[in-house]
Amino acid sequence: MMIERLFFSDLSKEIRGKALMCVLWCSLFAFLFPLSAYASSVRLKSYRMSDGTVHTFKTRSAGARRVLPRTRKDWDSERIYKAPVILMSYSDRDFLPEHDLQFYKDMLGKKGFNPGCGQGCVADYFRDQSLGKFNLEFDVVSVKTTYGCKITTNSAIREAIIKAAEYFDYSDSDYDWDGNGEADVVIVIFAGYGGNQIDDLSVGCYWPETDYIYINDLPVEAYSCSNEIWVNDASIGIGTLCHELSHILGLPDLYPKMGDDFSVVDEWDLMDGGCFSGDGWCPPNFSIQERELLGWATAETLEASQYIADMPVYDGSAKAYKIVNPSNPNECYYIENRQWEGWDYMLPGHGMLITHVNYSSSAWRSNIVNGDTSNRRYDYLHADGITFNEYYEYYNDVVASSYGEDGRNLRLRTTAYPYTNDEGVESTIPSLFGTTITDLTENDRLLSFRFRDAADGISTVSSDAEPVAYFDIQGRRISEPGKGMFIVKYSNGITKKIIR
Ligand SMILES: [Zn+2]
Repeated sequence: MMIERLFFSDLSKEIRGKALMCVLWCSLFAFLFPLSAYASSVRLKSYRMSDGTVHTFKTRSAGARRVLPRTRKDWDSERIYKAPVILMSYSDRDFLPEHDLQFYKDMLGKKGFNPGCGQGCVADYFRDQSLGKFNLEFDVVSVKTTYGCKITTNSAIREAIIKAAEYFDYSDSDYDWDGNGEADVVIVIFAGYGGNQIDDLSVGCYWPETDYIYINDLPVEAYSCSNEIWVNDASIGIGTLCHELSHILGLPDLYPKMGDDFSVVDEWDLMDGGCFSGDGWCPPNFSIQERELLGWATAETLEASQYIADMPVYDGSAKAYKIVNPSNPNECYYIENRQWEGWDYMLPGHGMLITHVNYSSSAWRSNIVNGDTSNRRYDYLHADGITFNEYYEYYNDVVASSYGEDGRNLRLRTTAYPYTNDEGVESTIPSLFGTTITDLTENDRLLSFRFRDAADGISTVSSDAEPVAYFDIQGRRISEPGKGMFIVKYSNGITKKIIR
């Protein structure tokens, strides 16, 4: 079964116990951002009200730990993956008049529909993340449950799914994505607030979650639910829906599930605080690691020393590199050029994002990726390299948290060491499995950097290794080496400088 009872990471600007920063490497700035609230299992979420004030409410995390579905890669870009959707009103709580059937049909499936700063509807989001491989359509109906909105079990959802059998044929093969004879997911959007918003208004309300369900005689495998509105009565947008639906695809949460700890990647990822970006209307792109798990895109492995010029923006291209640990194929660093474009428009910062991943299929499927704070399996490299406690002092003394005028959470945005400034001072990133990245620059949103192989210039070449690529001394790939000094990459992965 899967999971989740909460995901809110702390986005508050006022209340902060401690904050952890992670990193974005950038030529002009290194942005720091806190990864979450601290202390107790209560977290905080802030968003701007229509009058410009910032409203903060608490959220909670829970320790549900169930098994996520196995991720699959056999998507058919010719197929329409359909899902039944139930708009569930309670006996004592209806949807706001503006959130009618048409509003949800648009939010789910109308191309380009997005009243916020995102790129479109839920189907658009997944089409973009999958680079066209995962195309969704939704059948939407309204159902009224006999239960009230203050409820702690899934009885209302269960009843709504049964009632909706009047409209849906759950055995429709269009709903059965994996061919096991059951609808993979029934999406439920319930009226009112989510219980994860700890506010007087939302106390006792149900929480957004995704879970398996068994209903006698109904071929339904799981449901994914989210609520209608923030406590300011604005729609919560598409982020939470996308987050929950991603659990159906097998993606885990990236915030710690154990209660007391910090969020880890926060608004940089849909599976952490990113489901709230742009007040829920502009969730960030799936990371390349998430896309690799789903077979939607692949990072190019860096091996030979080379200079990489003008690495394209990640949004739209899904271009990424990875550096794999030579002694552990499950551990690697991913490199992305994340910019304020497209679905990444609301990212806290921009520049080179380096993610350290220590993959374990059991940790991913058990949804405990970052459960162990001494062994985070998915985290960013921190540009300043300092520990959380060190940063906490600095944060309290110096850094004012803030939301930018455009609504981005820019809290903790500051320069840090090492970084490259306007004068072109070089930035050097710590050793990544013995390799290095230097000479990082960002120019008109494109990143350039030099990658140095661990073996560069120092290894000997075994007698049976064949040359497979040549590079000039600046690291640019060349086809045929002439006279002079150049670099050869051999079939055994070793590179060597050669003078001819
Ligand atoms: Zn989740």
